[in-house]
Parts: sequence; C-alpha cells; structure tokens
Amino acid sequence: MSTTDEFRKEVRAWLEANCPPSMRTPTPDGALVFGGRKISFQSEDQRLWFERMRDKGWFAPDWPAAYGGGGLNAEQTAILEAEMRRLHCRPAQINLGIWMLGPVVLEFGTEEQKQALLTPMTRGEIRWCQGFSEPNAGSDLASLKTSAVDQGDHFLVNGTKIWTSYGDKSDWMYALVRTDPAAPKHRGISLIVLDMQSPGITVTPIDLISGKSSFCQVFFDNVKVPKGQLIGPLNGGWTLAKALLQHERRAMSKFGEFSLPTHFDLMSLAERYLPQTTAPADIALRARAVAMSMEEHSYTLTVQRMGEEMRARQNVSGLMSIMKLVHSEQEKDKFEILLDLMGHRALGWEGDEFTDPELALCKAWLGSFAQTIAGGSSEVQLNVIAKRVLELPEGKESK
Ligand SMILES: Cc1cc2nc3c(=O)[nH]c(=O)nc-3n(C[C@H](O)[C@H](O)[C@H](O)COP(=O)(O)OP(=O)(O)OC[C@H]3O[C@@H](n4cnc5c(N)ncnc54)[C@H](O)[C@@H]3O)c2cc1C
Repeated sequence: MSTTDEFRKEVRAWLEANCPPSMRTPTPDGALVFGGRKISFQSEDQRLWFERMRDKGWFAPDWPAAYGGGGLNAEQTAILEAEMRRLHCRPAQINLGIWMLGPVVLEFGTEEQKQALLTPMTRGEIRWCQGFSEPNAGSDLASLKTSAVDQGDHFLVNGTKIWTSYGDKSDWMYALVRTDPAAPKHRGISLIVLDMQSPGITVTPIDLISGKSSFCQVFFDNVKVPKGQLIGPLNGGWTLAKALLQHERRAMSKFGEFSLPTHFDLMSLAERYLPQTTAPADIALRARAVAMSMEEHSYTLTVQRMGEEMRARQNVSGLMSIMKLVHSEQEKDKFEILLDLMGHRALGWEGDEFTDPELALCKAWLGSFAQTIAGGSSEVQLNVIAKRVLELPEGKESK
C-alpha cells in the first residue's frame, strides 16, 4: 500500500471513530459553531467534534503544528477534505480568522504575531470579524476613510465600518485603516487587528429584509491600537487586502460544500414538486432544473480541481473571482428555479429549512442575493476577471 493510501486509510478510520453520527448531517440553520470567547454548543456531540478536531490540529490542517495547525502537506490536506466530504462531516468550527486573516498573517506577519494570533484561531478561542467596508467605500474599498493616526507607541483610530458580519458577536476585528491621508488612496492604507472590547468601540446591529441579520455598523471613537497590531508594512495594507479578499472568495466559493445544496437539493425537490405532465412549460422547467443540477455538479468538480492546483502552488488568484462569481450567481438561479417549481408553496418565511424547505424557501431566496454582493459584488468580480485573468487594459482599481 502506498503512503498516500495508508494516510487515507488512517484519516478515514479517525473520522469514522471521532466524528459522531449526528455531526454527519447537514448543519441546521443557526447551528454552526463559531469559535470565540462566547462559544456555545447545541449538543454534546457538537462539543466533542469541535474538541477532537481542535486537538488534532485539523481546523487548519495545512498550517504548521507550531501554530496549532495539522502540519499536513498539500496532498494530505486534499485527502482529509475529500474524506470529510465523503462522510458528510460538518465543519467543526467556522472562523473568519482561519479562512481569511490567518493565511495573510502566515505570509506577512512577524513571528511574534504568528504566535499571538494563529494559535488562538486554531484553538477556536477568538472569533474574528472583518472591518473593510465603510458607508462610502464598498466596491471602491480604497476610498476608505477610517483613520489610524500614529501616536508613538499606538495608533488612534476614528471612523466607522459598515456591513460588519457578526460584529456584535466577534472578539477581534481585522480592519483596513487610512494611515497616510496625503498619499494616493491605495498607498495610504494599512491592515491592523484590534480587540472589539477596546474602549471607544460601539457596535450597532442592522436589520435586514430577510429577517436574519448578522450585519452591524461599528463606530471607532479615539480607539487605541498598539503598534504591534499592525500587520505587514505601514501604508502597505492594500497588497494584504487583495490577498485577504482572494482567501475570502475562495472560502465563499466553497460554501456550497457544506451548506445550501445539501438541504435545498434541487433534484430531490424537483422530483417532489415538478408536475409530471408533458405541457411545454413543465418540460421547460424540468430542463432548467436538470441543467442547473449538472452545472452544480461541474462546479463542485472544478472547486476540487482548483484545490489541487492551489496545493501544487499554481497561481489561481484571479480564478477565485471566477469561482465566487459563478457560485453565488448559480445559487441565486437555483432559488429562482425552486420558486418556479414550488409556486405558492415557496412563500414560507419561518421554519427550519432542513426539515421542510417550504417553510423557509422565501427567506433563503432573499439571502441568495446577498451572496452576490458579499466579498465583492458580481460586477466587481467581472472587473477583477477582466483585469487579472483576461489581462484587459487596466481601468479604475476597485475591490
Ligand atoms: C452578506 C454580506 C456580508 C458582508 N460582510 C461584510 C463584512 O463582514 N465586512 C465588511 O467589511 N463588509 C461586508 N460586506 C459588505 C460588502 O463587501 C459590500 O456590500 C460590497 O463590497 C459592495 O459594496 P457596497 O455595498 O458599498 O455597494 P456599492 O459599492 O455602492 O455598489 C453598488 C452597486 O454598484 C455596482 N458597482 C460598484 N462599483 C462598480 C464598478 N466599478 N463596476 C461595475 N459595477 C459597480 C455594484 O456591483 C453594486 O451593484 C458584506 C456584504 C454582504 C451582502
């Protein structure tokens, strides 16, 4: 047996022994485990699964063991992910730190920052939020105005961030701030990290039409941030921001592996609701459902192929925008088809979308629009693709 086969066998045996059967089902709405100071579990199995994955270092399987990662190589990480998919294991922890900030700290942080920031992420001790967008800086992110003024041993931060997902529930934020107002806009930005309990921070939740709201506006009033919490070079934050956004897009393009398609499975709902007639409208609807199902499948295969390419250290940065664009638009189209399939039965608003999609489809349909905006809107992804993938002549730089 090859070393690879041996490893696969070991991983499979470990997952079978350590992932409780109840953690091999789709995660119900509101039951994801976010790490952090206020961590909570809905069941003993959920807690066990979290602790076992944490102790194994598999929240960040390919990070060095020195920072609480699993120390796996590229091929081993791919095997672990494939085995988790095969067994339908739930993610044991959702943490923006691991998905987005961590890889940037690994690349640009000092050794001291790696020790201080990465280990609490891999132990699930700190929940992170992202402070990028501002009221007048979304797609045009480089126009951000929140200022960080050098005060010797610390920065004094003033301004506001908006659309901060889970800002009210997070322990720390990574934020883009303006450190040189006189420089051209992309060259006066820095990336800092800050404790959300720092004096001078106010967090206000924002209500949404879908009824679910994770959004907040965060206000900074003379917030002191120690200089050691600057990541990367002063005024060099735009490079880090671009890297971080690519990690965000990669994470978003993978959402489908453990969320919506499993419980809003298009073909099983199509079988349940599609009229078995030969009326042209029904045939056309059936054809749309089949085509979408095939697209979803090819998307999943493409994500896996890209994972392999990334692990082989090929440059896939521009491709993340393609994947994010395709996935979020595909999800939106899928909900449109489901609405057409289910007719008035899709008007439900409340309820558990896992046990009865009729009760929650309308809410999920509205949510699918949000994903075409989060992490950079579809139009902005098209701009990025035009520039970085197709290398068309450069226009105005945007998020
Ligand atoms: C679910 C969700 C979660 C989010 N979470 C966070 C978070 O945690 N932290 C955070 O910082 N932000 C977060 N955001 C904010 C998100 O990054 C912004 O909403 C997004 O970048 C768009 O910015 P905007 O809302 O200001 O829209 P605008 O930039 O004002 O865009 C408005 C419209 O104009 C279009 N447009 C703008 N510029 C161009 C252009 N150059 N070419 C073509 N079309 C253009 C856009 O596509 C869009 O349709 C989240 C958003 C969503 C929906």
